[in-house]
Amino acid sequence: MGHWAKTRLFREVTQGLRSHVRNRVTTRMGEKRIAVIGAGVIGLSSTMHLIANLEKDNIRHVVDVYASEFTPNTTSDGAAGLWEPLLCGSKTPVEQVDHWGRETYTWLRYLRKKDIAGEIGVAQYSGYNLFSAEEFDGDPFWKDSVIGYRRAVPAEWEGIDMNLTVGYYFVSMMVQGNRYCKWLTESLRRRSAIQFYQRKILSLSEFSGKYDLVLNCTGIGSHDLLNDHKVYPVRGQIMKVEAPWIKNFTVAMTEGEVAYVIPCVDHVVIGGTMQDGNWSTESSPIDRASILEKCYRLEPSLKNARIVGEWTGLRPTRQECIRLEREQWNCSATSSSLQVVHNYGHAGGGLSLHWGCAADATDLAYQALGIVRRPSLERDYAYQFLQSDSHLSSRL
Ligand SMILES: Cc1cc2nc3c(=O)[nH]c(=O)nc-3n(C[C@H](O)[C@H](O)[C@H](O)COP(=O)(O)OP(=O)(O)OC[C@H]3O[C@@H](n4cnc5c(N)ncnc54)[C@H](O)[C@@H]3O)c2cc1C
Repeated sequence: MGHWAKTRLFREVTQGLRSHVRNRVTTRMGEKRIAVIGAGVIGLSSTMHLIANLEKDNIRHVVDVYASEFTPNTTSDGAAGLWEPLLCGSKTPVEQVDHWGRETYTWLRYLRKKDIAGEIGVAQYSGYNLFSAEEFDGDPFWKDSVIGYRRAVPAEWEGIDMNLTVGYYFVSMMVQGNRYCKWLTESLRRRSAIQFYQRKILSLSEFSGKYDLVLNCTGIGSHDLLNDHKVYPVRGQIMKVEAPWIKNFTVAMTEGEVAYVIPCVDHVVIGGTMQDGNWSTESSPIDRASILEKCYRLEPSLKNARIVGEWTGLRPTRQECIRLEREQWNCSATSSSLQVVHNYGHAGGGLSLHWGCAADATDLAYQALGIVRRPSLERDYAYQFLQSDSHLSSRL
């Protein structure tokens, strides 16, 4: 069945189930009713962490995942997927971001050794971050979390016409968003306790009285859903080229400009743009010309590479910090409250931080659900969970 037909079938099935969900009442003692909003890498990995822990702890649950878009149409699907954590706002503590990044790096290195690594878009690449003098801000905070970090020497940027004077080299991980999100989605869809609904949520009040917990993983969508005006887009346009001879990534920052060449599993991504406050997801010919011009300077051999794709997405950025916290949300219309765990605002680093953030979101979810024990997930258990079928389901 083609992708379009599958999507239509998915919509028809989910639409048919909607009225049932609206009317559903708890039927089993102690069963936890959970709604997740968002099915990008943050929503999928948070759902996976939470469900795996609940299954492990023998806690009955039903989970409904709502999203306007599913794979392959989320921001996470389009991202290059290079592991390189960003601070994501001046008030997110550095140690915290470093922890989330390290957890994710370790998870991706674990997956890389599995036979499915290529299929799910996970690979190891090393490469460079290079800078002009005025752009360099010292060694990155995550330098001790990666393998093989060292300063680059001038011979390594020789021949690049970009006024580069300093840089570093390290072993990074690649997680190609579309392959990875497909794997997570398919794994979760095999579990009968989980159902998916393609639908835009207009207010959290839709869930009031129906769920014990809502996980909000809506990325840029939190701007409208929560009226959170700290959330804004940083628009990124990229191109995909066929260049199998490119084996290292290179990210160059010069005079407020960024140019990068990043090999993924299926193609090489070249970019990009970083446009604060620009909500357009249309690709622009001006940006296309600028990307080609700077990437040809960075990697002249790309002039012989066939262009195979183009994509534009919005980095879900939040002033000051990522929002990973609990909230007791009060619904004025019904005078009731709802337990919410927020996990959004990962800017240009969601794929680099997702695994660590999902673990912390699960910790907060356990507290919100009143579960006394602490969740914990061994990598082997998580992997087995993702590869297996449901073994504890409230919907059977
Ligand atoms: C050009 C570009 C390159 C990037 N490269 C990298 C990279 O190399 N490495 C890296 O780590 N990161 C990169 N990023 C950043 C990364 O893509 C994001 O940080 C990550 O995708 C955020 O994941 P998310 O799940 O929060 O958001 P999304 O993937 O946008 O998912 C949000 C989900 O919420 C749903 N949703 C939103 N609002 C509602 C609503 N009201 N009702 C129902 N559903 C809703 C959406 O439909 C979607 O399912 C890049 C981003 C861009 C744009």
